[in-house]
Amino acid sequence: MILIRKEFSIKSHSRVEVINIDHYIASSIQEHQINEGICTVFVPHTTAAVTINENADPDVMRDINMELNKIIPFADGYHHVEGNSAAHIKSTLVGASEQIFIEDGRLKLGTWQSVFFCEFDGPRTRKVWLQFMVS
Ligand code: ZN
Repeated sequence: MILIRKEFSIKSHSRVEVINIDHYIASSIQEHQINEGICTVFVPHTTAAVTINENADPDVMRDINMELNKIIPFADGYHHVEGNSAAHIKSTLVGASEQIFIEDGRLKLGTWQSVFFCEFDGPRTRKVWLQFMVS
């Protein structure tokens, strides 16, 4: 088994934003000519996350953020002095990593699925770590 690690930067432009990162992962798979394996996507931030959901209708991710903003208000008497507790809570709920199979040189996602970086405390420049396990 071989491990390949990659890192890329991503720039968010608003406080809450979802960014499709399929092409970053696909270009790393191509660059290293990976045919079969497992890709782990890891977001090393406490106020951001990664998730997999629908890519066809952008309103799906918009609705997810709309509901997250309702159940986790930006201000709610939080104790954390930095003032971004809502972003920390969303990060924990959505999660810091995803794992996807690679088959025939491509991410094996469902027809309507994409990998989304989730910004909850932007705008900022963020990092995303990829680790490929290649057999
Ligand atoms: Zn904080």
